[in-house]
Amino acid sequence: MAERTFYNEVLTDHNLHPDNKYHLKDPNLVKEGVNPSCGDDIVLQLNYKDGVIEDASFVGEGCAISQASADIMINLVLGKTKEEAMHLSDIFLRMIQGEASDDEIKELEEGAALQDISHMPARVKCAVLGWRTLNEMLKEASE
Ligand code: ZN
Repeated sequence: MAERTFYNEVLTDHNLHPDNKYHLKDPNLVKEGVNPSCGDDIVLQLNYKDGVIEDASFVGEGCAISQASADIMINLVLGKTKEEAMHLSDIFLRMIQGEASDDEIKELEEGAALQDISHMPARVKCAVLGWRTLNEMLKEASE
């Protein structure tokens, strides 16, 4: 019951008052992430310099889960190195598959509110959209 309330509060809060939903000024990395099965369509924007995510935002449309997950993700990875961000995204993706440990999930802070998605297969693609897109961006950035 407590988990359920936490989940709803976090999702509602990030949907009504997203911290990071706006156009970044002069992003140097931009990538669109699409989840056709739900209609989620987001664009991540990063200021990425010397291996560090100095600033990040997203724009786009989608369901509550995709939007809240992207907003929470950006809060977590702001100021982080590529390695730290990819470590967190690895934990998130494994949490959604029900494979992350409790200690790992704690590292996700508010992201932990989305762990119940692992029991909702239809929503998994919504929850991982932002993380998957960030992962792809950072991989490409190293080339
Ligand atoms: Zn969705």
